[in-house]
Amino acid sequence: MTSSLTKRIRSIQDSLPESVKLIAVSKKVSVAAMREAYAAGIRDFGESKVQEATSKIEQLQDLSGITWHFIGHLQSNKAKKALSYFQWFHSVDSLKLAQRLNLLASEMGISPKVCLQVKILPDPSKSGFTVSQLLDDLVELNLCQSLQFEGLMTIPPLGLETPEVMKVFNQTRELATKIDRRNLENIKIKQLSMGMSQDYQLAIQSGATMIRLGTILFGERQLESEKDEV
Ligand SMILES: *Cc1c(COP(=O)(O)O)cnc(C)c1O
Repeated sequence: MTSSLTKRIRSIQDSLPESVKLIAVSKKVSVAAMREAYAAGIRDFGESKVQEATSKIEQLQDLSGITWHFIGHLQSNKAKKALSYFQWFHSVDSLKLAQRLNLLASEMGISPKVCLQVKILPDPSKSGFTVSQLLDDLVELNLCQSLQFEGLMTIPPLGLETPEVMKVFNQTRELATKIDRRNLENIKIKQLSMGMSQDYQLAIQSGATMIRLGTILFGERQLESEKDEV
């Protein structure tokens, strides 16, 4: 019998353009459900808390070919541990964090993939570079040679109307073009990580290449203490 989780995963996968990678956001999701998602074809999982994630990653070590994406706010005292478990960091939200990851990565002899999280609109509940900060910091970021800069990540503020959400995604794409025109050796924007359960179709229309879906795949999570993660 095909479970409803498997059906949801398959129907969303089938609806996505080839150019879009689905990341299954498994924060607060059980290891059993993650195994089911794996069986349905998921190979990219997103987690937002180091502690919870590393425990689950260890329990899933028998599954081969998984790419682990860190999508939450990363505290610098957890950076080293996170680097030994995750291959992607979508939420690099400051020059300081990038430099810390870069130093640790070079010591560890690894080259994690990184997206720079940008706040297109002011949003006190989220971290991220403002557009002007990001443009100012590009030269310094470019010196972080142990990081593989892949692209930009954004999360629109809660409660926007559709046209405003579209605008946030489109402005993120335009910012990517602007960054590419700087011709920095180490920073080429290949990926736009944008779109969650509520807005991924809009994000895809605006050029998203990676979407991060949780609720629409796994169902509602408990909401408590989620705010500080994104
Ligand atoms: C929780 C989370 C998601 C998934 O959100 P859903 O609305 O459940 O799809 C995506 N991105 C980030 C950064 C998150 O923290």
